[in-house]
Amino acid sequence: MIELVCNLHSHTPFSDGTGLHREIAAAAVRAGLDVVGVTDHNVWVGGVQGYYDRVLLLVGEEVHDPCRQPQVSHALILGAGRELAPLAVSPQELIHAAREQGALVFLAHPVEYVPRWLRDWLSEPALPWADREVTGFTGLELWNTMSEFKARLRTPFHALYYAFFPHRFLHGPFPEAIRWWEQLWLSEVPAVAIGGADAHGHAYKLGPWRRVLFPYEWLFRAVSTHILADRPLQRRPEEDWLLIRDALQAGRAWIANDLLGPSRGFRFEACSGHRRATMGGTLRRAGAVQMEAVAPLPGEFRLIRFGSGVVARARGRVLRHLTAEPGVYRMEVYRGGRLWILTNPIRVI
Ligand SMILES: [Zn+2]
Ligand SMILES: [Zn+2]
Repeated sequence: MIELVCNLHSHTPFSDGTGLHREIAAAAVRAGLDVVGVTDHNVWVGGVQGYYDRVLLLVGEEVHDPCRQPQVSHALILGAGRELAPLAVSPQELIHAAREQGALVFLAHPVEYVPRWLRDWLSEPALPWADREVTGFTGLELWNTMSEFKARLRTPFHALYYAFFPHRFLHGPFPEAIRWWEQLWLSEVPAVAIGGADAHGHAYKLGPWRRVLFPYEWLFRAVSTHILADRPLQRRPEEDWLLIRDALQAGRAWIANDLLGPSRGFRFEACSGHRRATMGGTLRRAGAVQMEAVAPLPGEFRLIRFGSGVVARARGRVLRHLTAEPGVYRMEVYRGGRLWILTNPIRVI
C-alpha cells in the first residue's frame, strides 16, 4: 500500500478564498502534501486540475443551496468533473447525481457550533449538515479545522489567544459528530471519515491586529487525511484520481493532526488466521482476532469498539489487542492529551 497525504477542502477567489489554484498547490508542496483538493462554493472550475510540481491538485466543489437561510448542508463533492450547483436545492438529488458521475460526496463540517459573539461579529451562523435523512453519501468530513477553530472561540479573549497560539485549539472532532458517525456504522451505513482544512487564507482583524491567521500552508500541515492507495501515483491526473477515489471510497484512511508529529507510516490492522484487514476493510474471523496499531512516534492509544467505547489502551508506539468479539473497531492515538490520529474502522464479522 502506498500512503498519500491529502487535504481535500480549500477555497480560491472563485468563491470566498484568497489564494489561486497555483498558490494553493505551492502551499501544499511546502506543507508536504501529496494531494490537495480545491472545493469552491457552488462553482466547479475546469482546466486547472493536474500536477503542480509534485502535488496533484484535484478540483471538486462544495455545494449548498444559497437560497436557504441559514445556508446549511454543504456537500463536498470530488471527482464529478462537471458543475453540480444547480442541483443544490435537493441535497438527496445532488448526492445521487454526484454518485452517478462516479464522484465522492462527503458531508462537510457536519456538526458546527459558533459562539454568539462570533456569530454577531462575523454575521455567520453555524452551518452544520441539516439533512440527516439523506442516503448514498460517501462519508463525513468528521474533523474540519476551521469549524473547530470557530467553536473554540468562546470569548474575544480566546480569539486573541489562538491568534498567537493557533496550534493550541485543535483537540479533535466534536463528540456529536463522532456519535453520528458511529450511529451510521451501527445502522450498517459504512460512512468514511475524512479530515480537512477548509482553507480560505483570510486575514482577520481584531482591534489593532490584522493577520492571516491560517495561511494555506499552516492549515495543510494540520488536520489532513492519509490514505492507502493500491499503487503509486503515475502523474496522470485522471488515472491517479481513480486510485485516490478507490482508497477513499474503501475508507483506507486515517485523519491526523500532523502538527503533533508526522503520522506518516502509521498502520492499523487486524488479522485472524491467515486473513488480514486494514482500515476500511472487513475481516472474517477465524478464531481469535489480533488487532495491531503501530505509530511512528509514541502516543496514547485507544482501541474503540463502536457501541462499546474504549476496549484497550496502550502507551508507546504499539497497541496489540486480542479479541474474539465481532464488531466495528477503530483507533485513536493522542499526544500530549490532544487527538493526533483517528482511523476509519475495521469491521470484524
Ligand atoms: Zn462549508
Ligand atoms: Zn469550505
